[in-house]
Amino acid sequence: MRDLLETDPWIYNQILDETTRQRTGLELVPSENYVSKAVMQAMGSPLTNKYSEGYPGKRYYGGQEYVDNIELLAIKRARELFGAEHVNVQPYSGSPANHAVFFALMTLGEKFMGMDLGCGGHLTHGSKVNFSGKHYDVASYRVDRETGLIDMDEVRKIALRERPKVIISSLTSYPRRLDFQAFQEVCEEVDAYHLADISHIAGLIVGGVHESPFPYVDVVTTTTHKTLRGPRGALIMSRTENRLHDEHFRGSKKNLAQLIDSAVFPGLQGGPHVHMIAAKAVALREAARPEFKGYARQVVRNARALADELMAQGLKLVTDGTDNHLMVIDLRPLGYGGKGKYVQNALDVAGITVNKNAVPYDDASPFNPSGIRLGTPALTTQGMKENEMEKIGEWLGNAVKNYHDVGLLKKMRQEVTKLASEFPLYPEYEVLRDPYQVQNPIHELVKR
Ligand SMILES: *Cc1c(COP(=O)(O)O)cnc(C)c1O
Repeated sequence: MRDLLETDPWIYNQILDETTRQRTGLELVPSENYVSKAVMQAMGSPLTNKYSEGYPGKRYYGGQEYVDNIELLAIKRARELFGAEHVNVQPYSGSPANHAVFFALMTLGEKFMGMDLGCGGHLTHGSKVNFSGKHYDVASYRVDRETGLIDMDEVRKIALRERPKVIISSLTSYPRRLDFQAFQEVCEEVDAYHLADISHIAGLIVGGVHESPFPYVDVVTTTTHKTLRGPRGALIMSRTENRLHDEHFRGSKKNLAQLIDSAVFPGLQGGPHVHMIAAKAVALREAARPEFKGYARQVVRNARALADELMAQGLKLVTDGTDNHLMVIDLRPLGYGGKGKYVQNALDVAGITVNKNAVPYDDASPFNPSGIRLGTPALTTQGMKENEMEKIGEWLGNAVKNYHDVGLLKKMRQEVTKLASEFPLYPEYEVLRDPYQVQNPIHELVKR
């Protein structure tokens, strides 16, 4: 990155510092991962210069020979990997992908059903502060208050009462499996579209450790940067033909695939980010390798080992465990209800990165909720296994229970760094470290 250093030593240094933070700490945010250098090289390529509005063979600009090859290859790989009929690889990220599907399947103000944010759904599944909650009518379902599990009878009851146009099966902080088949049965009973948003679990599905939503569902959205371990971005996958022939599409000759493509472009986006599409293609190739199955299996094994250790430490986990890559600590039994932010900040001192999160039926505010969400995708990419999870679980238990104890957290930071250094990440960045010793102006920015 010598050119970056010459042009902008401040940004250069921040990138190095962030890289060092990633290399010396423990990353337990379940939506994060570490991409390969190959994926980063595709992202940092001259493809970023190209405008290519439209789709392969139907562009609005010249010079598309190689761009078309790249997009077609990304589509082919996604189709093969997931078993999808139709794929759109252009969405900029997960939220715009969901926006496009809503745009394709509903008129403004129509009703859909998604899981309540506090119970493990995503912002784009009907939160009041998001387009999904502002522009559409939302009927949320929640998990069972006692077990913390999705109750499909309850989902069916709400669907029969509310008659939504779309039902979303998905999770962002739900630590158990999704029963796509059961959701599909409800969708068919009430003539709703089934949107499976597999953003969090795409890598587990590809790796064969979570049931696939194919071939049941109508539409699947996924981010590419979570368990799938690709660049920031998203995919929309769907059937080609429309299963439902409803009011909205009367008079339209478009099938489901065409509805989705035209919702992405020209509906919501302009030029696709070709460098990101290329990086998605690279990540899809990596995910098709046999090693990726081993990775996905280890992610789940590690999550189970970490959850077991946390519970052995006396911590309460939502649903008392995990089936996937993530878990949520319920801080309320420790008397730390509404203290999620402080626990998160304390863990930052120890070099352990997590994210505060609501627990189901949380009375506390979203800025200071009662839960801590953690997951194992990043640490597993780094090469850690059950033994390390046990050690990390022990530290976590200790740190959460004693989050006021700065001395303990600082001492823990040294052990954390030592463990992280045994699993080197992006080692080439070390040699580039800060040769000019440039003073960052960042303190002025922080004062603001
Ligand atoms: C992360 C996530 C998204 C949004 O992805 P962004 O890329 O952050 O916009 C959408 N749905 C689910 C279920 C997610 O977990």
